[in-house]
Amino acid sequence: MHITLIAGARPNFIKISPIINAIKKKQLDGADIRYSLVHTGQHYDKLMSGLFFDELNIPEPDVNLAAGSGTQAEQTASIMVAFEKYLMEHPTDLVLVVGDVTSTMACSIVAKKMGIKLAHVEAGIRSFDMSMPEEINRIVTDSLADYFFITSDFAKDNLKKNGVPDEKVFFVGNVMIDSLMANMQRLRRPEIFEDLELENGKYIVLTLHRPNNVDDIDTLLTMLGTIDENVNGTPVVFPIHPRTEQRLKGVDYHFANIRFVKPLGYLEFIYTIKHSMAVITDSGGITEETTIMHIPCMTLRDNTERMETCTVGTNELIGTNPKNLVPALQKLFAGEWKQGGIPRMWDGKTAERIVDIILKEFSR
Ligand code: UDP
Repeated sequence: MHITLIAGARPNFIKISPIINAIKKKQLDGADIRYSLVHTGQHYDKLMSGLFFDELNIPEPDVNLAAGSGTQAEQTASIMVAFEKYLMEHPTDLVLVVGDVTSTMACSIVAKKMGIKLAHVEAGIRSFDMSMPEEINRIVTDSLADYFFITSDFAKDNLKKNGVPDEKVFFVGNVMIDSLMANMQRLRRPEIFEDLELENGKYIVLTLHRPNNVDDIDTLLTMLGTIDENVNGTPVVFPIHPRTEQRLKGVDYHFANIRFVKPLGYLEFIYTIKHSMAVITDSGGITEETTIMHIPCMTLRDNTERMETCTVGTNELIGTNPKNLVPALQKLFAGEWKQGGIPRMWDGKTAERIVDIILKEFSR
């Protein structure tokens, strides 16, 4: 059988890497499974794309659809047009999408309209916040998929409520954690440790890129100001997402404790989280990574589609009002943050389970 794998944006590369490795392993065992990798070009910056291919040893994509820039609709449209053309010339048995980015949704629609089976990895998660483009991408993708690979019981409940039959839903764990576990021995200490004189356990990591937090410059500056004033002089390392950097262009600001740096490569970023005192973020994936490493995590959002990072892990929803950070930081500095546990099946073997299930389903 043949699978077409889709990846378009930074978190996708991290999720697709263990799936490719699991397919290669099955090939060595003699299984009838081949794959092509489609890069939609949604992220095209070296620091958001190429670097991850190098670091995670992801093979060169079979095609790059170069559908990178533009509004949500422009990006969706160019990915759909280019992917339809590609699929017409390169037939496949299954299209596999991961996560919840524009590429995930756009390629799902194309595959389904061409009558091709669709698998969604990280299916069923919901923030119930329709102001997030990702929530729309999740809902559309899950309304089309044939195979749902899920990370949590929350995802299972959401899919059940949407009428997805149990036999299409597979609780397999988390591919992001597969990547993390596979690379734990390869982590790299970034140069910023020397440049910024960072000491293990004595700095905080910050990431912000959600439109709700960064698109309005006043909201962004207030958030950064509140963080700056309440960290007791602790350095805050802020690898700045291109979207956020764009918003800050031409703005005059100064925050004594915040150290702005370029986005880090995966091996360097995970190293930086692993040795930090805590993480403040609005990312989804990072709340999973802090959970598995038992690093305190404050999420600057009103909701999360990854509830298990709060109920089981180290994550706490702080909300979008920066004032809420003050008691949370006090709790951190008092050493009272929860230790957290590890969610079910976050064991590094998720991708192998996914490939086994696909092979079984297609051998019927
Ligand atoms: N990440 C990275 N370098 C950075 C910031 C994040 O490698 O400077 C990784 C991080 O470890 C995680 C993924 O990028 O695996 C999360 O991506 P992002 O926050 O863009 O997406 P989300 O998880 O919110 O969808």
